[in-house]
Amino acid sequence: MSVGKSDLRKALRSVRFTVWIYFAIFIVAILVLIWISFIATLETNYRSRKENDIELVSSRIITSAVNGSLTSRQIEDLAHEYDMCIILQDRYGLTIYSYDVTSNHCLIHGSSESDLRSYRQSADSAADGVYYAELLNPRYGDDTLLYVKSIGGRGAIRYLMINTSLEPLDSTVGVIRVQMIQITVAMLILGFGISIFLSRLISTPITRITKSAAKLGQGDYNVEFNGNGYTETEQLAETLNFASCEITKIDTMRRDLMANISHDLRTPLTMVKAYAEMIRDLSGDDPVKRDEHLGIIIEESDRLAALVNDILDLTKLENGGSELSLTDFDLSERINSIMARYSLLSERDGYKFYVSVPEGSMVTADPIKFDQVIYNLVNNAVNYSGESRDIYVTAVPVSDGMEIAVTDTGPGISKELLPLIFDRYYRAEKSKREVIGTGLGLSIVKQILIMHGFEFGVRSEENVGSTFWFRTKNRS
Ligand code: ADP
Repeated sequence: MSVGKSDLRKALRSVRFTVWIYFAIFIVAILVLIWISFIATLETNYRSRKENDIELVSSRIITSAVNGSLTSRQIEDLAHEYDMCIILQDRYGLTIYSYDVTSNHCLIHGSSESDLRSYRQSADSAADGVYYAELLNPRYGDDTLLYVKSIGGRGAIRYLMINTSLEPLDSTVGVIRVQMIQITVAMLILGFGISIFLSRLISTPITRITKSAAKLGQGDYNVEFNGNGYTETEQLAETLNFASCEITKIDTMRRDLMANISHDLRTPLTMVKAYAEMIRDLSGDDPVKRDEHLGIIIEESDRLAALVNDILDLTKLENGGSELSLTDFDLSERINSIMARYSLLSERDGYKFYVSVPEGSMVTADPIKFDQVIYNLVNNAVNYSGESRDIYVTAVPVSDGMEIAVTDTGPGISKELLPLIFDRYYRAEKSKREVIGTGLGLSIVKQILIMHGFEFGVRSEENVGSTFWFRTKNRS
């Protein structure tokens, strides 16, 4: 029951139904307007035209009568032209002249003398001498307009009676009404059809996109959004295609990360377990061997800790759970103290670090996060420095801050991969396990630099090397 109700509610709120209902309302409103304006005004317009005609005929007859030029021909012509019966009477109510276009069918011809007398009296007693009335002609059942004018003066003609039928109006209205009903029905059917067609046309691409989105929701990332038809739906489809492409990318990266992380976690864990067992079974009593094995266990635990920290750091940065605490500090002091920790690497593994930072230059940043950026960039340079093992850390003043760059002379990064390396989980050398990494280092760098509002980027040439740079901004 409730399912049926919600289905009905959904159907009523659909684009299809909404378009249809508005269209239907529009058509009905137009029809109602036409009906009202036509039918309501037709009757009054027609009646006032008839009244004008009567006034005109009356004034012509009276003028001619006063001039003494009134002829029976003139009266007949006027009666024909305006479709009227005309009677002229003297002061005693005797008819001087009478003409009836309807061959004695009009109201005043059929009226009794007492009726005519009462009309005359009404005209006599009216201030302007005119008696006007809409009367029913009982013989034909049609409405008529009666005009009786009491003419003053001494002329022979005292009363002018004009009577005209309003029946032509009724028949016209009848014809129009039938036509209007036909037009209304035709417009409703046509409008119904057009609105259904229109609503289908509009809703089809939306329905198609919704179906594709449902597939995407079920994990089918190859789905193609097609908004063919309208600019808006095409834009929507384009946006969704872009989104699905991004989701696919992230999904692939996430899978890669799972593979990488599980591998990277398993390797040190296996080592820790193996060396712990070795200490228990073999080297426990041999202090030299035991220390060596414990050293390996500590090293592997550090790797594990670094991996877990990277994941936590990035999650925190991305979720906005990390606040910046900005401080002004001396750049050369900061970089030199970081680089001092790489002295073991340079002594033991032959890495050469060339640091060139102008002394006394101040920058504004969160020092701990700044260290993290430098560490990540230098670690990458170490990891990917190649045979030459030369690494340059430089800083030069730029317009409103310092440009800091970490350069290596390693294999470089191909043009296609350059836009991807700042993405989460991205690792170019998936199969190369000797370089321990999570694919998160540069994402952390990116997040930190974005938080600071620093510009950053990478220049790289294959087989020449890469330079990762960022620009600090002075406090404004
Ligand atoms: P990882 O932990 O894998 O180093 P990063 O986010 O730090 O993760 O780096 C992402 C990828 O970018 C690396 O896997 C590597 O392919 C590439 N990359 C980063 N730094 C360099 C570099 N200095 N030279 C060449 N490639 C690099």
